[in-house]
Amino acid sequence: MLDKVVIANRGEIALRILRACHALGIRTVAVHSTVDRNLKHVAMADESVCIGPAPSADSYLNMASLIAAAEVTDAQAIHPGYGFLSENADFAERVEQSGFIFIGPKPDTIRLMGDKVEAIRAMKEAGVPCVPGSGGPLDDDNATNIGIAREIGYPVIVKAAGGGGGRGMRVVHTEAHLANAIATTKQEAKAAFGNDMVYMEKFLENPRHIEIQVLADGQGNAIHLGERDCSMQRRHQKVVEEAPAPGITPEQRAAIGKVCVEACIRIDYRGAGTFEFLYEDGRFYFIEMNTRIQVEHPVTEMITGIDLVREQLMIAAGHKLSFTQDDIVLQGHAIECRINAEDPDTFMPSPGLIQHFHAPGGPGVRVDSHIYEGYRVPANYDSMIGKLIVHGADREQAICRMRVALSEMVVDGIRTNVALQQRILADIGFQQGGQNIHYLEKRLAERKDKAIGLG
Ligand code: ADP
Repeated sequence: MLDKVVIANRGEIALRILRACHALGIRTVAVHSTVDRNLKHVAMADESVCIGPAPSADSYLNMASLIAAAEVTDAQAIHPGYGFLSENADFAERVEQSGFIFIGPKPDTIRLMGDKVEAIRAMKEAGVPCVPGSGGPLDDDNATNIGIAREIGYPVIVKAAGGGGGRGMRVVHTEAHLANAIATTKQEAKAAFGNDMVYMEKFLENPRHIEIQVLADGQGNAIHLGERDCSMQRRHQKVVEEAPAPGITPEQRAAIGKVCVEACIRIDYRGAGTFEFLYEDGRFYFIEMNTRIQVEHPVTEMITGIDLVREQLMIAAGHKLSFTQDDIVLQGHAIECRINAEDPDTFMPSPGLIQHFHAPGGPGVRVDSHIYEGYRVPANYDSMIGKLIVHGADREQAICRMRVALSEMVVDGIRTNVALQQRILADIGFQQGGQNIHYLEKRLAERKDKAIGLG
């Protein structure tokens, strides 16, 4: 087993990784910026290292500081969590070159999946269904691009090959707007991602977001752990996630899962990963692969009983997967609500001092959060302060448990989106299940216009 791991992240995921390490008897090194000295996991870690000032660029994104932290503490491995450097192939490479284990896929795999054009090409070759599209980068020849768009059929979406976080995309409804849209997206992509390569896809009008969780040991074994439905989104950010996805049959799950597992074997994938799909009219369309642990991983853990972070650590330590596909049995239903320090109506961030905190509890309730009474939420980072996860025998019970859990939750001193989550859970459309990725924004817009919608 690994001996000592540097947790190159902050907040709830840093705490989650620390817990998985300690449960395996692995010692931990917490790294933190100057404003993050009081993070919960810093107090719980065996050692801690301050890696720089508050701005992420100088701390959590500072590769040299992170590697130095591993050196001075004589650690063996670095877990990147999600966000920050978790999908940075250069970081993974530098970690390995410095003699440490990067807890994730090989740098080349991260690089491949970070280039969406290449990723889609590789997935197509591996037999993964993709969105009909240009199949490669667009050049500046307008006539060619018009031809591609006609073949795909409008509306189309122009996307940056190096894009991420829902940025660098433009929907085009008519031929007249195509050339301009390509030029603008290219400019934006160059400025935002340092890479002006763009490609074209059919724009699916009312898809759901359904993703498949995989684990692969890099030694020829891979399995899938079913799907998650993450269609409740605002500005391409997931707000509520659940597993399994309403209406997906065991046959559909087995079929798409098998395709993902085969792709993992083919690209020699290692670690935990997620194949993200848009799902429309009963068909899956691959959009991207995330080569890291995801925020929403707990819903999969709740229905499979498998600790995904533990498995990441085991794989990094060189162990083969200790279970096969047949061992994976989905039980009941799980829902996750992201809890953000933000106004539930305006979505303005609301950092500050947490004066009172009461966490919900009871059967099937899990709170993944680093907050505590007296903790000050800094303004420098993402506003997520935790995740509330529930498990029930079925979706109905999970919804009931989530509604009770949300009503028990007290976070005083700052504003949170708990009230928004309560409205979502009380919404008839959400309760029906299977809504598409535009549903939440539509309901929010209705609420704004007519003071109705979402309860
Ligand atoms: P990112 O890496 O920025 O998250 P994705 O390729 O995963 O980019 O796309 C983000 C979101 O954009 C998707 O979840 C979906 O809402 C929307 N989107 C992307 N491609 C398409 C498409 N072809 N049709 C419809 N919506 C799309």
